[in-house]
Amino acid sequence: MTSTQQTFEIALSEKRIHAGTSIAAVIGDPVKHSLSPVIHNVGFRSLGIDWVYVACEVKEGEAQSALDAMKTLGLRGLSVTMPHKTAIASLVDAVSAAAQALHSVNTVEVAADGSLIGHSTDGDGLVASLKEQGVSVNGQAILILGAGGAARSVIDALHRHACRQIFVANRSLDNAQMAVALAPSIATAVSTTDSTSLFAAAANSDIIINATSVGMTKSPGTVSKNVSVSPISVDLIRPDHIVVDLVYHPMETELLRQARRRGALAIDGLGMLVHQAALQQQIWTGLVPNVSDMYQAALQALA
Ligand code: NAP
Repeated sequence: MTSTQQTFEIALSEKRIHAGTSIAAVIGDPVKHSLSPVIHNVGFRSLGIDWVYVACEVKEGEAQSALDAMKTLGLRGLSVTMPHKTAIASLVDAVSAAAQALHSVNTVEVAADGSLIGHSTDGDGLVASLKEQGVSVNGQAILILGAGGAARSVIDALHRHACRQIFVANRSLDNAQMAVALAPSIATAVSTTDSTSLFAAAANSDIIINATSVGMTKSPGTVSKNVSVSPISVDLIRPDHIVVDLVYHPMETELLRQARRRGALAIDGLGMLVHQAALQQQIWTGLVPNVSDMYQAALQALA
């Protein structure tokens, strides 16, 4: 049994499930190693409400069936992960402003009239986790490494939260240019192969955020050749930089080690994961769960 399963079972061991228990779920493929059941069940427990959260493997191309099942089975909330985020955005009845800008949905809410509303909580989850660490993005210049789904949600949220300037650095300049379109008035695309421009972007930034998958293991507990690699040279990091890694397995990435060696503040990606889940619970229930309990449960599951 994995530690994720054990923590999930501990969370559920004190929970009595009734005919009227509300059910929320995550759909994705793969979802076997998802931390979401642990995080959400601990969140529901902190709220003292009769909800339970499960993981459902849904194959690519089956997003519509999953939404139909959500309605038929009366699921009260849905988290959406790879590979369904884009498909669900075009299948729900309405989308929030962030989900519309990103063409991506990670949360489905059931409205009072039964219609399904898509939201995206990833970027706001990052902003909330930084705030918890005493970091405000308002007025800051930020270097984002990467231009995929996570980077795009972060760019959109940083723009809405009034950051001053964004540099999007990516190995494929085309993808960086497309991501920049989310915040055209303040964002600039940089190729990571252009070391002079990358150095200038880092030098002109207050915060550096890794939104690439460099440094990530495939799943908790596995080893990957990527893991001891950082997306940037340590020379780009100053002691007054705030360095954030969205990667959370492993928690201690090479980038965060570099940042600490340089005396910079280093922030891991688990806070973002937990805060985006807490925002999902707020959307579904209107209540604010205990983020600290959720974080500790996720940490225990990862360990
Ligand atoms: P994605 O859409 O597949 O994007 C991957 C990004 O990484 C792209 O910009 C890609 O560049 C870049 N990349 C991949 N391999 C690279 C390499 N070897 N060298 C340089 N760049 C490379 O993935 P995603 O959904 O954005 O996720 C990115 C990371 O964020 C993952 O580690 C994921 O676990 C993490 N994440 C964390 C949270 C959280 O809550 N903490 C939430 C979402 C995602 P190209 O465009 O050139 O391919």
